[in-house]
Amino acid sequence: MNKWLEGRVVENRHWTDALFSLRVEGVALSFQAGQFVRIALEEDLARPFSFVNPPADPVLEFYGIVVPEGPLSPRLARLRAGERLLVASNPAGFLVLSEVPDADTLWLVSTGTGIAPFLSILRTETPWKRFGKVVLVHAVRHARELVYTDLIGKVHRENPGLFHYVTFVSREKWPGSLHGRIPAAMRDGHPVAQRLDGIRRTVGEVGKVVTVGKRQIETDNGRRRALAIHAMTGRTRGNEDLLARRVRG
Ligand SMILES: Cc1cc2nc3c(=O)[nH]c(=O)nc-3n(C[C@H](O)[C@H](O)[C@H](O)COP(=O)(O)OP(=O)(O)OC[C@H]3O[C@@H](n4cnc5c(N)ncnc54)[C@H](O)[C@@H]3O)c2cc1C
Repeated sequence: MNKWLEGRVVENRHWTDALFSLRVEGVALSFQAGQFVRIALEEDLARPFSFVNPPADPVLEFYGIVVPEGPLSPRLARLRAGERLLVASNPAGFLVLSEVPDADTLWLVSTGTGIAPFLSILRTETPWKRFGKVVLVHAVRHARELVYTDLIGKVHRENPGLFHYVTFVSREKWPGSLHGRIPAAMRDGHPVAQRLDGIRRTVGEVGKVVTVGKRQIETDNGRRRALAIHAMTGRTRGNEDLLARRVRG
């Protein structure tokens, strides 16, 4: 049964006006990298947030965006060090590597705050033991939303030759990033995007789905649609060989 645990904010880092990361101590939780937990200021207004920290780190970290009309996220963004945050005692979720079949390459494809659970996963030993290559794709609108680059750089240094970080920026041209959005890049035939598309099409052909988790996000034209947070696995021996399965929709 869920209990509410009381933590203290030790840091609220603001990356941009809308993007923030809360670090919270005083809550001991057992969870798997990739899972989420409900957080709240009052028990009757709680929202799920993915852990950014790996399970071994006792300081919890959450990466959020302010949804201007949302009831909770603007208040979370205003929290200061020393203030209280309630954390549910029952982390949950299937965006975990134990749900992903073995493969040569693990693709972690995220948009916006969807990178959060992957940052937790990348800081555990499992991906480096189980997969020959790990590709983190992060798509954002503006380059300033390419967050956690220090942490990602450290993961890169610690796993030479195994880790690849690919970024998409849709609303400006940014050196080192692919311009545009993942679906458009697929249409234009960029090699990275082609690889993603290859996985997607093959999965479609064999009737399996690679998407793990879904989140409602706002699209450029203001429509809401379900975009996916994906973990993709593909054997490089040809796309026919690709293994993937739907874990959570
Ligand atoms: C399993 C799960 C894990 C989640 N993990 C995170 C996380 O790590 N970080 C995070 O910021 N949010 C995360 N969310 C969303 C989060 O729970 C809240 O919905 C969000 O913080 C907004 O809360 P709110 O009360 O202000 O507005 P809400 O009433 O909850 O949301 C209002 C609308 O805002 C939009 N929205 C919600 N979250 C986002 C987002 N992250 N990006 C773009 N649009 C959004 C949706 O269209 C939603 O209908 C997660 C949601 C789920 C289901």
